[in-house]
Amino acid sequence: MDRDQAMALLRWYVEAGVDEAVGEAPLCRFAAPAAAKTAPPPAKPTAPPAPVPPPASPTGAASWAPAAGPGEARAAAAAAGDHDALLAAIRAFEGCALKRTATTTCICDGNPAAPIAIVGEAPGREEDRQGKPFVGPAGRLLDKMLAAIGLDRNRVYITNTIYWRPPGNRAPTADELALCLPFLERQIELIAPRLLVYLGGTAAKAMLGRSEGITRLRGRWFALQRPEREAIPALAMFHPAYLLRRPERKRDSWRDLLAIREKMDELGIAAGS
Ligand code: URA
Repeated sequence: MDRDQAMALLRWYVEAGVDEAVGEAPLCRFAAPAAAKTAPPPAKPTAPPAPVPPPASPTGAASWAPAAGPGEARAAAAAAGDHDALLAAIRAFEGCALKRTATTTCICDGNPAAPIAIVGEAPGREEDRQGKPFVGPAGRLLDKMLAAIGLDRNRVYITNTIYWRPPGNRAPTADELALCLPFLERQIELIAPRLLVYLGGTAAKAMLGRSEGITRLRGRWFALQRPEREAIPALAMFHPAYLLRRPERKRDSWRDLLAIREKMDELGIAAGS
């Protein structure tokens, strides 16, 4: 393979979402095994080949299609009586095909007893490695944003709309969001925060059920209605990953952080400083 061919193959891998090597040495899967090279050519088939079954999952499910739907997710979520049981139910859930390509199930970080819950989009590369949300570059910016209003990870609970990294960090699909939403709703029900923050368009749209983009939704207070319980005030903000790309939008996020601080005072939620 010459350099141009190698570069074309590399570009193809990147476009397909392959962005890290998992082995120490490259392995060319196009190279035929030595035995096959010397074997005689196969006889011409006289009948059409039998259909190849789809690959079996580690749990035995024989398909890349979701093995379960939002109904199963909702039942599993409802059956979880506390936060630990819910984490176990999410880890055991095999309905989301993203689990096949992810390294870990990345659910939450911070304090499940905290009065503030933050919902992001989906794990990135670093989160997938560590199994914890917001531990990469966007997470480091989030920590600084929280510190600016006297908060840290002991005073907030952090989670995502999706628990498995989408390949190549692509945006989650509507089906993937719908599969994970019952778990996210149950997380919020169980930890019962007094204030919610949605980071980025994916989280805001999924949680608010609205179609506007984040530029229109950010900086506005919404309410998460719950049957027979008080509504929870919720603020949509730009995602920190977006702020890393567009630092000039940080002034909007600073206003949003001040609005959160004001709402905390109104609700009697203590900050660390
Ligand atoms: N972006 C997110 O939305 N969530 C993470 O956990 C990391 C990056």
